[in-house]
Amino acid sequence: MKGEPIENGAVAVVGRDVVAVGDFKKITRDFPISTFDVTELGDGTIVPGWVNAHTHLEFSDIEEPLGFPGIKFTDWIRKIVKRRIESNRLESDTNSVSSKSLAIRCGLLESKQAGTWAIGEIATAPLDLNDYSEADCQIVTRCFFEQLGRDPSNYPTQATELTSFLSQTQPDHSTFFRGASPHAPYSVSELLFNQIQSISLTAATPVAMHIAETLEERELLEKGSGDFVDLLKEFGIWNPTDFNGEISIPGILNQLSKTEHALIVHGNYLNDIELDLIAAHPQNMSVAFCPRTHRFFQHSLYPLQKMLNRKINVCLGTDSRASNPDLNIFKEAQEVAASFPALSPKEILEMATINGSKALGLPSCIGTISENQTASLNYISPPANLRTHHPTDWLFEQTSQCVPLH
Ligand SMILES: [Zn+2]
Repeated sequence: MKGEPIENGAVAVVGRDVVAVGDFKKITRDFPISTFDVTELGDGTIVPGWVNAHTHLEFSDIEEPLGFPGIKFTDWIRKIVKRRIESNRLESDTNSVSSKSLAIRCGLLESKQAGTWAIGEIATAPLDLNDYSEADCQIVTRCFFEQLGRDPSNYPTQATELTSFLSQTQPDHSTFFRGASPHAPYSVSELLFNQIQSISLTAATPVAMHIAETLEERELLEKGSGDFVDLLKEFGIWNPTDFNGEISIPGILNQLSKTEHALIVHGNYLNDIELDLIAAHPQNMSVAFCPRTHRFFQHSLYPLQKMLNRKINVCLGTDSRASNPDLNIFKEAQEVAASFPALSPKEILEMATINGSKALGLPSCIGTISENQTASLNYISPPANLRTHHPTDWLFEQTSQCVPLH
């Protein structure tokens, strides 16, 4: 991902680091072959470890998506909130290791086994950072501390928690990075959003926010009506003056454009003006597309081509196992290839690797195969009916297979 594909290429690894990338003959001239174990992989392609730009690992123990394909988004939220309340109750009944901790560790392991090198994680209070540092998966993590709510009496505690999270130095700062996440326009009050924004600006930290995920969200913000009104009433946080048109998606995007990095999660229903606004900030604004979650909710066609036409940095995420059967970015890339046949495998490969790394504000070597960097390599074997010999043409065909090389 630092140059053109290399035919008959090889990657030399010593310990955990890549020491050379290039033509097999040249590498074996530079490094006496007798000192290396050589693995001949065949007619496949070595690609960098995947970057999963958006997930919620705390739901990694959910066996299958909640609800059914095409479920109304607000009904799905009811299910996820119910599940959280039930597992909290279960937790208080037992003294075992928290199921949330186990889910996070399982999610990290699953991600690693699916070839993921870096993730953009949305984490909620109470946070136990040991879940990330002790998992022994060596996954680079940008951990966005999520905040939500509409009760001003909680804001001082929320401010203290976020400020303290952003200022900690443990765990290892070379693999663990911090960020903030106001959840979504329907779940975060204007006051709380401004508070998170101000703390994030002071800490110069990246911010991730779910925006324009559903048409119902737009209806709530623009007209103060729709499915979300009933949901917020049920949760006892409905206040009609909250949605009098003052909070708007362009307004939020404008605010986020001032942050170190702003990751717009989903953006399924962003309009042209909003896409232009994001495109005007190519250095620090990105969008995370979660293709199979998008399919699960049966949303309208994703505005991917409009984003790419505007040169918006689009990366891929799995979202959580509450709306996706697994945490496999290769499968997300295959979904993109199937849904957008006009896209080149190269564009999709970038979305699954370096675009995610840029969106999360991670070191630029992540999502690449680079000398003197930790090796995180995946191997993609070609489909059985290989019709083309160009090494990257078939990368994300449905019968291609990805195997992590560890
Ligand atoms: Zn999400």
